[in-house]
Amino acid sequence: MTDHEVLIIGGGFSGIGAAIALQSAGIEDFALLEKAGELGGTWRENTYPGCACDVPSALYSYSFALHPDWSRVFAPQAEIQAYLKSVAQRHRVPGRTRFHCEVLSGAWDETQQQWILQTTTGPLTSKAIVAAGGPLHEPRIPKLPGLSRFQGELFHSARWNHQLDLTGRRVAVIGTGSSAIQFVPEIAGRAGRLHLFQRTAPWVLPKPDHPIPGLEKALFRHVPGAQRVLRETIYHSLELLQLGQRHPAVMRQVQRIGVAHLRLAVRDDELRRALTPDFTLGCKRLLLSNTYYPALQRENVEVVAHALQRVNARSVVGADGVQRPVDTIILATGFHATDPPIAGLIRGRDGRTLEEAWQGSPSAYIGTTVSNFPNAFLMIGPNLGNGHSSAFVIIEAQLRYITQALLALRHHASIEVHAEVQRAYDAKVQRALAGTVWNAGGCQSYYLDRNGRNAAIYPWTTRDLRRRLSCFNLEEYDVVPARERVAAAA
Ligand SMILES: Cc1cc2nc3c(=O)[nH]c(=O)nc-3n(C[C@H](O)[C@H](O)[C@H](O)COP(=O)(O)OP(=O)(O)OC[C@H]3O[C@@H](n4cnc5c(N)ncnc54)[C@H](O)[C@@H]3O)c2cc1C
Repeated sequence: MTDHEVLIIGGGFSGIGAAIALQSAGIEDFALLEKAGELGGTWRENTYPGCACDVPSALYSYSFALHPDWSRVFAPQAEIQAYLKSVAQRHRVPGRTRFHCEVLSGAWDETQQQWILQTTTGPLTSKAIVAAGGPLHEPRIPKLPGLSRFQGELFHSARWNHQLDLTGRRVAVIGTGSSAIQFVPEIAGRAGRLHLFQRTAPWVLPKPDHPIPGLEKALFRHVPGAQRVLRETIYHSLELLQLGQRHPAVMRQVQRIGVAHLRLAVRDDELRRALTPDFTLGCKRLLLSNTYYPALQRENVEVVAHALQRVNARSVVGADGVQRPVDTIILATGFHATDPPIAGLIRGRDGRTLEEAWQGSPSAYIGTTVSNFPNAFLMIGPNLGNGHSSAFVIIEAQLRYITQALLALRHHASIEVHAEVQRAYDAKVQRALAGTVWNAGGCQSYYLDRNGRNAAIYPWTTRDLRRRLSCFNLEEYDVVPARERVAAAA
């Protein structure tokens, strides 16, 4: 007898969504395990100045919990975190959560046909697990010579040091991705000197952001259909972008907006040259900002168009060989996206972890199930991202599939995707990615794993993904009948 039918690992939008979906499907015997003392994931951890979503909030929210009160088109972090907690509260998720319960390891027990999780609060067993540890959870700390000997303040953007007043400080920011372009404009005015180390200049498009007027909020409150129409409109516009991303030639046309934005915002020829990307737009995650380019033109800001090479006790040295004295280093170097820590913790039927099975190139059937890992479901698993649309589209599509699978599992001891089904699907995904802007756009992005294979992107539209995940097909799975479990245990 297991402790629970299902254990959900992680209390971000995926895990909370899973808890709600299970309840709706009548699966009541579950617990959510969260290592922190609070739900939230991404939005609990990323509290840097200027942190906000980069997909309009009307789409960056659960479809079953539209929120009429977003203050802006792109809501700030605190509002998103408050939304997350209120939805979780409404669906009684905190009551089903074990806080401060970190999963240290998980192993499939073939004899008992169950998962055994070792956690910081003791062992737990379940028939199935939903791994929702987050695709962008563990900050990536670059291996920079001398970094550990730096004597000033050092932190990652996802672990912002709010005790530190940046006023007048000499700051080095490493990285120019989604987080940096949000916080650099916020701190540039306070820092004494800010050196921004840019290995690759990103494409930055204008951000169609503004406060949402009271009248519009009232409309959304009283006529929820209006917000749903807005959500659908945003969704379909982003779908068009997805179609374009399959064809670099189309993206080069969209790129003209990026070129015009840069030309209008940056007058200085040399700076403009340094900020001009050398890859096709879409190859990396799209960035939106109206304040990034103006911030880079401040007197106290220097764009160093080189990677950082070395850190000394009180200075940093770029690939240009220049030593710049700094007292603070902020790492905006992203996350372990294609090598999430959860993959090192979960051991399948053959005793290997996901990480060992993947050998650096994650793969899963429709990003969700993996051969040799029975009764296990990955949230936002390999090749489910898209670089432009909302994670909620993926999360909700997956949950439809997973709840069907869990209901089917009630009649069996275990289900495990056929190795050949997974292999054929994976080959098809990789074939479809060849020649797309993500693979052939001329950039080095976190979409590519350590073997240079694209392990992050779903090559077709999210509409296609939703269709594929709308129907769980047991024929694609090896099934161990319920009675074999009893026989094995006897
Ligand atoms: C700054 C930032 C901005 C973003 N903006 C957008 C956006 O605009 N649009 C978009 O679509 N996506 C965005 N994303 C991606 C974002 O990560 C997803 O949208 C979404 O929040 C992921 O939710 P999740 O629940 O899957 O993972 P997370 O939010 O990362 O939650 C994972 C949870 O699992 C817990 N956990 C991890 N390991 C364990 C363990 N071993 N034991 C117990 N608990 C564990 C963590 O503590 C965490 O609470 C952004 C990401 C970042 C970092």
